[in-house]
Amino acid sequence: MTPTNLLDFDLPQLTDWIQSLGERPFRARQIFRWIHREGCDDFAAMSDVAKSLRAKLAEQAIIAAPRVLRDSVSRDGTRKWLLDVGGGNAVETVFIPERSRGTLCISTQAGCALECAFCSTGKQGFNRNLSTAEILGQLWLANRLLGAAKAEGDWDTTEGPDNGRVVTNVVLMGMGEPLANFEAVVHALRVMLDDHGYGLSRRRVTVSTSGIVPAIDRLREHCPVALAVSLHAPNDALRDRLVPINRKYPLRELLAACQRYLERAPRDFITFEYVLLEGVNDAPEHARELVTLVRDVPCKFNLIPFNPFPGAPFARPDEDRIRRFASILMEAGLVTTTRKTRGDDVAAACGQLAGQVRDRTRRSRQTMGIDQGEMV
Ligand code: SAH
Ligand code: SF4
Repeated sequence: MTPTNLLDFDLPQLTDWIQSLGERPFRARQIFRWIHREGCDDFAAMSDVAKSLRAKLAEQAIIAAPRVLRDSVSRDGTRKWLLDVGGGNAVETVFIPERSRGTLCISTQAGCALECAFCSTGKQGFNRNLSTAEILGQLWLANRLLGAAKAEGDWDTTEGPDNGRVVTNVVLMGMGEPLANFEAVVHALRVMLDDHGYGLSRRRVTVSTSGIVPAIDRLREHCPVALAVSLHAPNDALRDRLVPINRKYPLRELLAACQRYLERAPRDFITFEYVLLEGVNDAPEHARELVTLVRDVPCKFNLIPFNPFPGAPFARPDEDRIRRFASILMEAGLVTTTRKTRGDDVAAACGQLAGQVRDRTRRSRQTMGIDQGEMV
């Protein structure tokens, strides 16, 4: 019998499973706290759980996160883990320490099917969705590994929020499109938010999407956390080229979905991400067109200067051009930040995450001239 991985369950699911073993529901809460609050993976150590149940759990269940294949630390303290998710696929998780917070950037798919022109994950093709255990396992693992480093005093952690955790914020901005893996992502989000789990507030958990409109509506119904939308262009003609999903869900529909989301969102704005590609979408006219486009949506802008990767047909604009673009948005009253590049010496910056993916679509052979799917 294949053991049940308890990292796959949110609390209601774990409760159902525990009851199916003939146990009382409160046992699920105890076990859940051991797993997520204590980072425990050994049933024998769950001291307030009856011995007979511990034995039963050891027979039927496991607590297993993906295995760490590589652990890299950047000069700026950004840490990146390459994780084995089986079948020759690997995904990446990035921890970004700052003075007042520690942000974990989590992957949701092995590869991505959406083929955005400037994204190295998209260039790799798509293999499969990650399970809840593989998504949540990234947070579980990071807390364990960073917690251990902190205890040994070899990690310069944040001075920030006082819940004792190193990871204070989670962003679903790693490899993959979170809303294309909806069920698994929502179960993982529920554990992140659960007071018996990681107890993160909805404002500190952000889903980033390239704009799958029906799934934005479903997220609003089922689990409204902070939302970031990858805009990248001020009109449909350009966005169709850069973010191909725009052909299915054009800007007008996307912005209407953002408006609807705000009715339930934990923050009163949407974050628009905008990757700056030299000579493509970074002209002052583009900035002015953007101002008009988002007129009716309360929002903030996060500009991301393009991060290069091998074979990418784009370049990062120079500082002046970036500043000019940002100042047009700011002069129009839009709160705008330019994302600092973190961890690029270990290829951990936005859009550089590649992991290793066996591309089931076999697309990469044409797009990159090599078949990354055969790399592993
Ligand atoms: N699939 C989701 C989340 C993962 S990508 C999405 O597209 O929103 C996270 C962010 O990194 C997105 O805004 C994405 O457009 C951006 N990004 C991708 N490639 C990049 C690159 N090479 N340089 C800078 N940002 C990039
Ligand atoms: Fe997928 Fe996001 Fe990359 Fe687009 S930017 S290919 S949606 S991971």
